[in-house]
Amino acid sequence: MVGVLDINVTKAATSKLDSLDLTNLPFGRVFTDHMLEADYEDGEWKSVEIKPYQPLLMEPSMAALHYGQAIFEGIKAYRDQQGQVSIFRPMDNFRRFNISAERMFMPTVPEEIFIDGLKMLIDLDRDWVPSQADHSLYIRPVMFATDPMIGVKPSDSYKFLILLSPTGPYYVAPMKIYVEEKYTRAAPGGVGFSKNAGNYGGSMLATALAKKQGYDQVLWTDAFEHKYLQEVGTMNVFFIVGNKAITPSLADGTILAGVTRDSAITVLQEMGLKVEESRITIDELIDLHKTGQLREVFGTGTAATISMIKELKYKDYVMHFDTEQAVTAPELKRRLTALREGKSPDRHGWMVRV
Ligand SMILES: *Cc1c(COP(=O)(O)O)cnc(C)c1O
Repeated sequence: MVGVLDINVTKAATSKLDSLDLTNLPFGRVFTDHMLEADYEDGEWKSVEIKPYQPLLMEPSMAALHYGQAIFEGIKAYRDQQGQVSIFRPMDNFRRFNISAERMFMPTVPEEIFIDGLKMLIDLDRDWVPSQADHSLYIRPVMFATDPMIGVKPSDSYKFLILLSPTGPYYVAPMKIYVEEKYTRAAPGGVGFSKNAGNYGGSMLATALAKKQGYDQVLWTDAFEHKYLQEVGTMNVFFIVGNKAITPSLADGTILAGVTRDSAITVLQEMGLKVEESRITIDELIDLHKTGQLREVFGTGTAATISMIKELKYKDYVMHFDTEQAVTAPELKRRLTALREGKSPDRHGWMVRV
């Protein structure tokens, strides 16, 4: 087992930070001075190192490119008003990463590399964590198969990386959503609950077609009947009905168990709402809308936290939501943001200090 002391550190000679303005950076294009890299070979993780961010050298036959054993995570770190840096619920992402790894028949990554390595990396690039409101450091752990051969089989070797990218406010205007009836994101027995790269590749056509028709994203439905609601784009979805919040249940294995989803469930309950994780169909949703009970619809995810939905279209039926009048989504976002920026007490132990 690799201990913290076994992580080799090679520091960058100069920092790119000196020539950068951390405000208004485009999402995911600028990376910090360092990255973590570990290789899995002969049944164990070896050569764990933190080194200057740099390109990788790879074989054109690299297994991940051909057969798709590739998984990732998305996490954020924040700087509070005292200047302290904390990561939001990294243990939850660590556990989910290994659930994805098991489903994709890849090795799990030990906590000493994922969590301790992440803390060491952020500590080294601490100055990159923005201090402005709504800014954060986006963390991207990723693992992929590296066997240099094109025979179909689980790879014997893998690479694990952690990249850090400072990000500004990720504002998402209220979205128009197309309820998808043709393409499918996930089916029971499939890989929908894992954060694997292919789930994203498989969703791009449907999203592009929806965009062509003037929609921002699709609301995925189940693979058999296209009735049961799953997720909105790459976010979990919540429906506010009276004093109740309904979100699709994780029971079918077709939904990614979002850390923001889980946090939203806790905070919505603290706000006095009843939260129901259940199966819900598009017909049930339309009935709730027709009877005036459906007040708000929103998506949750690490990148944007909460994204309000102003329109949902299913066949010829269009539901409009006056997001100016929304109360639940803005309050939920306000509470989550205050917590992560250290402006309200961390009662659940969600913030992990670096
Ligand atoms: C990552 C992801 C989410 C959101 O998960 P968070 O942990 O809240 O960021 C939701 N759905 C899909 C498909 C995802 O890949």
